[in-house]
Amino acid sequence: RRKWKRVMGILRELEEGCETTVGRLRQVVDAMAVEMHAGLASEGGSKLKMLLTYVDNLPSGNEKGTYYALDLGGTNFRVLRVQLGGQRSSILDKDVERQAIPQHLMTGTSEDLFDFIASSLQQFVEKEGNSSTPSFVRRELGFTFSFPVKQSSVSSGFLLKWTKGFAIEDMVGKEVGECLQQALIRKGLDMRVAALVNDTVGTLALGHYHDVDTVAAVIIGTGTNACYLERTDAIIKCQGLLTSSGGMVVNMEWGNFWSSHLPRTSYDIDLDANSPNPNDQGFEKMLSGMYLGDIVRRVVLRMSQESDIFGPASPRLSMPFILRTPLMAEMHEDDSPELTEVARILKDVLEISDVPLKVRKLIVRICDVVTCRAARLAAAGIVGILKKIGRDGSGGITSGRSRSDIKMRRTVVAIEGGLYTSYTMFREYLHEALTEILGEDIAQHVILKVTEDGSGTGAALLGASHS
Ligand code: ADP
Repeated sequence: RRKWKRVMGILRELEEGCETTVGRLRQVVDAMAVEMHAGLASEGGSKLKMLLTYVDNLPSGNEKGTYYALDLGGTNFRVLRVQLGGQRSSILDKDVERQAIPQHLMTGTSEDLFDFIASSLQQFVEKEGNSSTPSFVRRELGFTFSFPVKQSSVSSGFLLKWTKGFAIEDMVGKEVGECLQQALIRKGLDMRVAALVNDTVGTLALGHYHDVDTVAAVIIGTGTNACYLERTDAIIKCQGLLTSSGGMVVNMEWGNFWSSHLPRTSYDIDLDANSPNPNDQGFEKMLSGMYLGDIVRRVVLRMSQESDIFGPASPRLSMPFILRTPLMAEMHEDDSPELTEVARILKDVLEISDVPLKVRKLIVRICDVVTCRAARLAAAGIVGILKKIGRDGSGGITSGRSRSDIKMRRTVVAIEGGLYTSYTMFREYLHEALTEILGEDIAQHVILKVTEDGSGTGAALLGASHS
């Protein structure tokens, strides 16, 4: 009985540590907007890199023809072909092929990785059959590369660092578009890398293609990131930047956002310390799919060390990342009265059997606390962007107008990623927090719209509009 009390103490400490009152979320909103300013003011001015993308025009809908895209960035690698009809929002046809990236290529050499990518593309192109692209027409390729890249043009840029488990040392600092272009040449493929884009930028492009009120894009999958349309005169670190539209998409790399207002626990600190990139990607480590399951594992591990409620110590519990986020979601969303899914996953994955119902309920509660915090922080991040561009209904920092004077414009945020699209509780908590932070009057004008395969399709669209 004393043991159970100890466990309840750990739970309470977790709940307090993860608390996201609306007041705290507003502090995170403000911190996000402030950091965005700082990152735009000077190179290295913030943990937010606020990278220029050189995408100054989003697809207009008039693009016509067949375009290709490669999408590299998470657990999967995709090759796409998109046929555009030239009329707004119409995509005539789309073929997508997915492939898992072999683990050894994620930590090998850049040449091996790019040869693999080029081979996949070659096979895809060869399967075209009655090709809609005559063989004398050079194919235009959009390349989605979802890692931090410092761009020098819309189709070139060098890799700043790896994230999400990739670690190909010789690649850091290299020109990414060129690596791909060289691999295409090695394979004898007559294709040109017309656009090198971050996945969030692809998502924004597709979102904007379908709905012109789209001003930002957010991805919450294995990792997390966001981009948005900024006025060039607000990009102070790049004086004299001129674009025909007066705007440019900025890739925030918000996974690296940090603020003292973020509710951080000892589990986050340990997870970070044991990660290959300590002190890096702090926001991402609190809210993306790669990490949520492991935070839960760490809480359960501590409870099992300080009590016997999980029976004899299971060595599985000490294995990092053994509890994947989709399994955590399954436990969280188990609606059977006896929590049979929780029991099954505890047994199959963590080798913990025969725990009583109240212990299974405790597991559900831990998942709930961890996911709720993640979703609410994501919502605060989104409102931070809206605040920066004056779409949070506050009328801007310097304006003296009162809330009621402002006519809030319809504002669409394109969103993608498995955590948001497949984890219902996460999505619901995120929406709830958006409404709490913005208030219902404003929140009704803010629409989160799921795009599908935007990271890839959007790159093809950008390849088209920049060819
Ligand atoms: P990626 O980010 O790897 O390119 P996705 O956007 O599809 O690909 O996101 C996949 C990630 O989303 C997975 O790593 C996992 O963390 C999370 N995810 C996928 N399905 C679920 C689910 N049912 N419940 C919770 N998380 C999920």
